[in-house]
Amino acid sequence: MLPEYRNEALTDFRKPEAQNAFREALERVKASIGRSYPLVINGEAIETSDHITSTNPARPQEVLGTFAKGTLAHAERAVEAAAAAFEGWKRVPVEERARFLLRAAAAMRRRKHEFSAIMVLEAGKTWVEADADTSEAIDFMEYYARQAVRIADSTSLLTQYPGEQLGLYYIPLGVGIVIPPWNFPLAIPTGMLSAAVVAGNAAVLKPAGQTPWIAYEMCRLFWEQGLPDGVINYLPGPGSVIGASMIENPQTRFISFTGSREVGIDIFQRAAKVQPGQIWLKRTVLEMGGKDAILVDETADLDAAAAGVVASAFGFQGQKCSACSRAIFVDGVYDQLADKVVGLARKLRVDMPDKEAGVDLGPVIDLNAMKTIMGYIELGTQEGKLLLGGEPVSTPEGGYFLPPTIFGDVAPDARIAQEEIFGPVLTLIRARDYEEGLAIANGTEYGLTGAVYSTRRDRLERARADYHVGNLYFNRKCTGAMVGAHPFGGFNMSGTDSKAGGPDYLLLFTQAKSVAEKL
Ligand code: NAD
Repeated sequence: MLPEYRNEALTDFRKPEAQNAFREALERVKASIGRSYPLVINGEAIETSDHITSTNPARPQEVLGTFAKGTLAHAERAVEAAAAAFEGWKRVPVEERARFLLRAAAAMRRRKHEFSAIMVLEAGKTWVEADADTSEAIDFMEYYARQAVRIADSTSLLTQYPGEQLGLYYIPLGVGIVIPPWNFPLAIPTGMLSAAVVAGNAAVLKPAGQTPWIAYEMCRLFWEQGLPDGVINYLPGPGSVIGASMIENPQTRFISFTGSREVGIDIFQRAAKVQPGQIWLKRTVLEMGGKDAILVDETADLDAAAAGVVASAFGFQGQKCSACSRAIFVDGVYDQLADKVVGLARKLRVDMPDKEAGVDLGPVIDLNAMKTIMGYIELGTQEGKLLLGGEPVSTPEGGYFLPPTIFGDVAPDARIAQEEIFGPVLTLIRARDYEEGLAIANGTEYGLTGAVYSTRRDRLERARADYHVGNLYFNRKCTGAMVGAHPFGGFNMSGTDSKAGGPDYLLLFTQAKSVAEKL
């Protein structure tokens, strides 16, 4: 019997000993900068002539590692290897597969700060954000290990039928292609991969181009636990080339993707086309973008609301699918709240994330992101009133730093209030009253997270019924979902609502087999 699942404790960086331990981990990780990493297919390390480099967005000249770049031929081989490994792995008892995840969780816990330190360098995360990412990765492994054992034999859920002995078994699907984004570069791939593998599938991981290093270290951790060759294959390379080809491969049984709306739609369409020789319809688990809103009415605790908006909008530089990018304030408190939000955001410190725990915002992920976000900021100056930020923050080493940026009096249908910006840009929207505010909150094609600050029970209940998002929060921020407590996934163009970290998630990686034997 396993001990009850609990969320991994977050590190308290107010303690000097925690700060020292993290600093030491950063030093250890920095000592391994600049190495080369192979592809790994069927346990074999493969070098290539073409490479991907991983760089530090806070110091773009700093090359963190050089990664072999997969070709179409590698993509074919990787799917082949996973298909062969699946035949053995699916027969390994679920308890054993779960133990493998628990060992990986324990190993990651022991090296927690090292994993976090890599993300500080490779993704530009602050210490607090990196620590939360690693903790979530550990949570996913602990949680899915227990869920896999729970669901594998679900016979007890059946209604007895006279004269027959019944069985209901959740069996694996086959080969999965796992395609994560760069913004939770440890938690998301760990969650998607561990769910696939503990359910008995074999997978190919195509990491995000910006964060191949942390993805490699995660795979290595899994391999070190003695996982059979080919169950997890590591294949970096261009998503639109090798990702697309693996999605179309007739041997692929499912695709587990988290990323942008555009790519999610593309994958959905490619996966839907039945290829010659394919004998199933591919399962797609697609988690996409958001345009999340926090609605505040005149009865709310305005200080708490302002703090919640600022934390949700600017944590990890606004590069979260759950980030608050629209703050909707009812007219009676709009001006007061706008002042409070701008006042709090102005105090946030933008700096090199490896410097110390107290940095609030690091760089955005890369030059492309910086250009896209600056494009939206420029548009924002026409669509709203610039209240804070707006200009890049220059640093001696040329990192991609942007300040918290806030636009006031933005129309609900403005482009900056409708399109996912994925950076530290917040739009403030004035609503006549609560009802109009709720309509504005629901007025995008997304439906991922949302929050309401109000002390009126009837209004909270109205939102419970009608605020159409996958993750709704009352009187708290709209980021920071915890595995097991807040199953995560969105509606509409935010994706297939897979509810990662929830009790039903593993069902997406399985198929149910019902067996009846006449007595
Ligand atoms: P992205 O869609 O650009 O890339 C995601 C992954 O898809 C990467 O690994 C990329 O290499 C790969 N890819 C790109 N083109 C592909 C193609 N044609 N075929 C197959 N694979 C392809 O997203 P991103 O910039 O890495 O991440 C940011 C996005 O992810 C945002 O939209 C954010 O909201 C979303 N996101 C959603 C969730 C969620 O749970 N809903 C969580 C985190 C991030």
